[in-house]
Amino acid sequence: MTAETIEIVAINDEASTCSRCGRTGLKRVAWVSVDGEEPVPYGTTCVWRVLKAGGHPDAEGRASWSKIEQIAEAQEVEKATTFLWSLPDPEVRGPVENEWGVEVYIAQVAGHEGRAVTLNSAIYEAYHAALRSQGFSYRATREAVADLQYTLRGEGSP
Ligand SMILES: [Zn+2]
Repeated sequence: MTAETIEIVAINDEASTCSRCGRTGLKRVAWVSVDGEEPVPYGTTCVWRVLKAGGHPDAEGRASWSKIEQIAEAQEVEKATTFLWSLPDPEVRGPVENEWGVEVYIAQVAGHEGRAVTLNSAIYEAYHAALRSQGFSYRATREAVADLQYTLRGEGSP
């Protein structure tokens, strides 16, 4: 049996019935997409069951909305990071001096060849903007860009 991809797309009160077990009167639901299908509303227990059944590493112990929210946020950051890495190369220049006279390389993002890189603020802003235009939250955007910076800085040396 192939593992299902379980994605929590949103958590809100826009439905009150769990589409998995039929439970009604729910105050909030998680919109769950299985293997890229249209998201459907699940109650807490059912989200937790499918996460556990899908072998999600953080789905341990009892279900709670706070744990589900954490998983949903982590998934969003991961998606934002994937999207960010899929963007085409920005301009590559380097080494150049930044405003403090420190020599930096401007990131070659898509290819990210081994360079000690400091992203300049223009590229940093461009990536924030690109992520926000895709509907990613401020938090996911911030974390994905931080991840990009970390990865580029950690790679090789000039
Ligand atoms: Zn249910």
